[in-house]
Amino acid sequence: MKTSAQVVVIGGGVVGCSVLYHLTKFGWTDVMLVERSELTSGSTWHAAGGFHTLNADTNMAALQGYTIRLYRELEEITGLSCGLHHVGGVTLATTPERVDHLKAERAKHRYMGLETEFIGPEEIAKLSPITNTEGVLGGLYDPLDGHLDPSGTTHAYAKAARMAGVEIVLRNPVKATTQRSDGTWDIVTEQGTIHAEHVVNAGGLWAREVGAMAGVYLPLHPMEHQYLVTEETPEVYERESELPHVMDPEGESYLRQEGRGICIGFYEQNCDPWAVDWTPWDFGHELLENKMERIEDSVAFACKRFPVLERAGVKTVINGPFTFAPDGNPLVGPVPGLRNYWSACGVMAGFSQGGGVGLSLAEWMVEGEPSRDVFAMDVARFGDWITPGYTRTKVRENYQRRFSISYPNEELPAARPFQTTPAYGIWNEQRAVFGAAYGMEAVNYFAPEGEPLFETPSFRRSNAFDATGEEVRAVREAVGINEIHNFGKYRVTGPGARDWIDRMMAGRVPKPGRLSLTPMLSPKGRLIGDFTISCLEEETFQLTASFGAQAYHMRWFLQHLPESGVSLENVSTRRIGFQIAGPNARALLARTTRADVSADAFKFMDVKEMDVGLTRAVVQRVSYTGDLGYEIYVGADDQRSLYAALSEAGEGLGLRPFGMRAMMSLRLEKFFGSWLREFSPDYTPMETGMDRFVSYNKPADFIGKAAALKEKAEGVSRRICAFAVDAADADVVAYEPIYVGGEIKGFVTSGGYAHYPRKSIALGFLPVEMIAEGLAAEIEILGDLRPATLITTPLFDADGARMRG
Ligand SMILES: Cc1cc2nc3c(=O)[nH]c(=O)nc-3n(C[C@H](O)[C@H](O)[C@H](O)COP(=O)(O)OP(=O)(O)OC[C@H]3O[C@@H](n4cnc5c(N)ncnc54)[C@H](O)[C@@H]3O)c2cc1C
Repeated sequence: MKTSAQVVVIGGGVVGCSVLYHLTKFGWTDVMLVERSELTSGSTWHAAGGFHTLNADTNMAALQGYTIRLYRELEEITGLSCGLHHVGGVTLATTPERVDHLKAERAKHRYMGLETEFIGPEEIAKLSPITNTEGVLGGLYDPLDGHLDPSGTTHAYAKAARMAGVEIVLRNPVKATTQRSDGTWDIVTEQGTIHAEHVVNAGGLWAREVGAMAGVYLPLHPMEHQYLVTEETPEVYERESELPHVMDPEGESYLRQEGRGICIGFYEQNCDPWAVDWTPWDFGHELLENKMERIEDSVAFACKRFPVLERAGVKTVINGPFTFAPDGNPLVGPVPGLRNYWSACGVMAGFSQGGGVGLSLAEWMVEGEPSRDVFAMDVARFGDWITPGYTRTKVRENYQRRFSISYPNEELPAARPFQTTPAYGIWNEQRAVFGAAYGMEAVNYFAPEGEPLFETPSFRRSNAFDATGEEVRAVREAVGINEIHNFGKYRVTGPGARDWIDRMMAGRVPKPGRLSLTPMLSPKGRLIGDFTISCLEEETFQLTASFGAQAYHMRWFLQHLPESGVSLENVSTRRIGFQIAGPNARALLARTTRADVSADAFKFMDVKEMDVGLTRAVVQRVSYTGDLGYEIYVGADDQRSLYAALSEAGEGLGLRPFGMRAMMSLRLEKFFGSWLREFSPDYTPMETGMDRFVSYNKPADFIGKAAALKEKAEGVSRRICAFAVDAADADVVAYEPIYVGGEIKGFVTSGGYAHYPRKSIALGFLPVEMIAEGLAAEIEILGDLRPATLITTPLFDADGARMRG
């Protein structure tokens, strides 16, 4: 065994082997894989081996497409068989909501170039005669669906990597991982210690335990999962071609042909987290005891959907554990708080996702960043607020919801409320309907008396629609108040703070007392943040960005923080407060402070410290509503008293609280983009209009400058523009295809209903040469092509007179 390597991958399951192969593909061959037992000794060996592209997150779906297409390449390189069965698969719809869901997915697939198709019950019966289509309204057919041999596939990845020169050490458990002061790692194994620059944790079922060796908690949890294989069945073996897969969400089952019989697995409601505290080290080659009683109801339902099951005897029942993250997506990337320590775990669908995970991680390690937005599987989408209790509860919910519809407006109930601000009780008394992001509760809207305190999940306009409209009108016609706790906030101080921000951000760093908006760029010039910089003093700043990106941004900041001089603190949950916005916002603020807040004394993009009510506050004249507005920041302890002052002063001014649904509607009227929708690592400043905030000529050599200048010189081929959509009862969400002249020319990034001008709005990409006022287009919403007109003038305060006045 070698005693040093550039990279040591811990774990020889399908994911570790895929990482290994992809590292070699990107040119790193001084790489070792260390496996405790034999390859496939974790979840991998007992997987059912199914693969598919369907995923609620579009980027994840694209990576699943990549994974599936990779298998042929692996077979060609290695001469080994992955045991591929490209039989296609259909996901059944038995309710109108499921039809909406599948049609929405189909629309996204068109933009991604995936060839899925919505088909009727007759066609389903033709494809899969063993399916009883009674009550089936249709289904989404995916020709890429299929299954493979889990062991053959893992060995094919390993062989392809070995052919490139890597070393795989079997029967060698890793006992400890310790970091040296220069950031490199000692990986202590049973056969000796390996010194490596980078460590990859691909420990699968044991990834928690392997993470703990480095002192980190990785939020994943194993769940038991059962599938059964039947005896040989004439309905199967008498066919000339292999049966396609059938996913029956109503029965929470997936079915495929296995040899001359049938394999059917269940995601049952009566499920249990396995190995609650730790995964035993001596587990691996055995299966768990069958728990047929847990899946009795599911089996009974399946017998109705697939009557052949009643006659087919059960040959084998498999019960095995595999791991999930709280939202069901993998945990990939540099682990926050550690140097050169990479996560490739929490992969619940290794044969759909393993290739994409390996590809993205290898790109990240070798090239410094993945080639696409992988936030949906970034290990930094969870922060240090996450606990095993939260993970376990969410993982169980996720397992139970494996076949549930993911609605765009849905807020999942498990592990809530978790984190709240002091204002939580205030909103509760006012009939708030909450959502949660990054563990924190935030008001979505306020339910009128007589309405339920619950938003109905839907692809169409929900019961929140009218209430949201009222809140929007209150902002535009009087004054609205909402919380600003759901921004990520960072305090940067000390000598060198200004220079450091100048290098981290592409935009201008403001003078004391002023704000600026700026993108943050990756070295390749892609958007990795949209920030507001508040300069409180020459070397004292508050940076504000998306709340959900805290660990993502802190990881980046800490990678680039100088050894001394600049001090950086994440104050997101400590600096909270309220935003007030609307024509009466100035009058409201004036009633609560003795500071001069007149238009001349307190201008747009000013920031000032002042007393508001009883509290010392930092007040910024800016609002994401695009209206006259102020953000008022105080310490968390002062939040309730600030609210009391504002609410008392608001009497007679039409003050009304508003939630995030209204906020997102208001920003649409101004065509303001938002993080991970318009502003994501998939896009660049010029593509998204963020170039107007890039200070191309500033002396600082900011990260991404060369790429930004290159883009400026060469121009871009696509740009985001806005459309007014002739929608029916559903608005766009994201990734719907945009047709011009009957052909797909672009896709939607986000949108919704702009309540004040009463228009359905879509933001999305088109080739630059097509962008012109009045262009007629069509956007696919839930299977319908809706007429859309390109608009270039914001629908509210187009000249900014109100916002700046
Ligand atoms: C019953 C069942 C059915 C499934 N069906 C499907 C399916 O149809 N399709 C699909 O895509 N997925 C399916 N899965 C999920 C799939 O098995 C997993 O997504 C996949 O195997 C995860 O692979 P992995 O490499 O991350 O983890 P594992 O397979 O768990 O591999 C981790 C490896 O790390 C090694 N290791 C751990 N700690 C150490 C250490 N300290 N030192 C050295 N080595 C170590 C282990 O020995 C192991 O070999 C199923 C799972 C189960 C249980």
